[in-house]
Amino acid sequence: MSFLNLPEGLAERIIQCNSTYTVRFGVRLRGRMYSFIGWRSVHSEHCEPVKGGIRYAFNADAEEVEALAALMTLKCSLVDVPFGGSKGALKIDPREWTPQELERITRRFTQELNKRGLIGPGINVPAPDIGTGEREMAWMVDEFRRANPTDVVNARACVTGKPLSKGGIAGRTEATGRGVQFAIQSFLRDPRTPGLDGRRDLKGASVVVQGFGNVGYYAAKFLSQEDGAHITVVAERDGYVSNPEGIPVEALKQHQIRSGSILGFEGAKSFAGDMSGIEQPCDVLVPAAMENAIHAVNAERIKAQLVVEAANGPVTFEADRILRSRGVTILPDLYVNAGGVIVSYFEWVKNLTHIPFGLMERRRRERRNQTIAAALERMTGKEFPAEMRDEFLEGGAEIDLVRSGLEDVMRSTWARIGDLLEVQPELGDYRTAAYVASIRQIADAYEAIGI
Ligand code: GLU
Repeated sequence: MSFLNLPEGLAERIIQCNSTYTVRFGVRLRGRMYSFIGWRSVHSEHCEPVKGGIRYAFNADAEEVEALAALMTLKCSLVDVPFGGSKGALKIDPREWTPQELERITRRFTQELNKRGLIGPGINVPAPDIGTGEREMAWMVDEFRRANPTDVVNARACVTGKPLSKGGIAGRTEATGRGVQFAIQSFLRDPRTPGLDGRRDLKGASVVVQGFGNVGYYAAKFLSQEDGAHITVVAERDGYVSNPEGIPVEALKQHQIRSGSILGFEGAKSFAGDMSGIEQPCDVLVPAAMENAIHAVNAERIKAQLVVEAANGPVTFEADRILRSRGVTILPDLYVNAGGVIVSYFEWVKNLTHIPFGLMERRRRERRNQTIAAALERMTGKEFPAEMRDEFLEGGAEIDLVRSGLEDVMRSTWARIGDLLEVQPELGDYRTAAYVASIRQIADAYEAIGI
């Protein structure tokens, strides 16, 4: 905070979590009553609604939820989406319950949140996180509508990350992984950064991915299929798989879906029970699993040049210091994994405007592009190149607009972080610069509203 010169007391106000609600409820399942405990924490309401995922994890606790809610505030402010920060969790191992049981548990949890004003389009908008996805969001939105039958017009905006059929948006599921790709591209393209030993793209670069859930899978897929990286290691909680030539990501995902594990995949060598996947030599390490994956003990053994924080809080405070002292560059979580909440913002706007993105102008743009193509053909006497035709003529489907909006936000946010570090080199690293950029905006908002 000393870089910011905040007025007396304001720093403390910004750090504190405004409220954390603990919910305990019972659900009758398997012929008996089961009790569940969950939390929804609201970190800052300087901007409303507040926003953040709900995770289902057996090791969740209130303190973790509060820390993650604070991170949401910082993330939203950094990328300039108009939300305060919130986070929720249910202490549950989703693998122990059938989909029908999970549905009943989720609906009960939603009722509890609704009773306390902790879900709603204008107050608090949950989203998927670890252990939750489209399915849980569909149950939540349905339960919210039932509980608020007189207020259905905007009800769909009460959660994001919904399936398309329930008011979701194209590209939300891939959004965090896509954002990771744009973050790395922005870093590499910026001549002020060291790049990868001066290299400005990922062609042939080796990448280790820890965590092969939604974020890790999509990041690995885009980095390998589109940017030419070799995914040499994928690590999970039961061990890791390795292939120096590059792991075929899609085939590994199919194997994981079929067998429940990445281990035993024929396209790579398996190391069962071995937790050292994250320590294997590589150019780029993408921790995309849980918090604290890189800590004081293994930080010394990390061999990457660049650590890209796709998970929330994957590098501990101590490990951050150790990595930086060893010359490792870190791209911080509040920037790298903001893709999820950015596309959530697009979804929320879509739900409130009740009109799909691009509906009004798509055909007009297509016709105009057709005219340009025809004019070019007439003027040059040549045919428009077939391989460019489709892309040029297409008027912009929702997925293209979402990706382009996300890319724009990720690029401009990187420019802000880079510019700040350029004028204030004493900030020293990207995380500090991102924090300063973000907190400055929150402080301005607090001062403007006079609290
Ligand atoms: N759970 C995601 C995150 O941690 C997404 C949050 C959201 O979309 O609201 O950023």
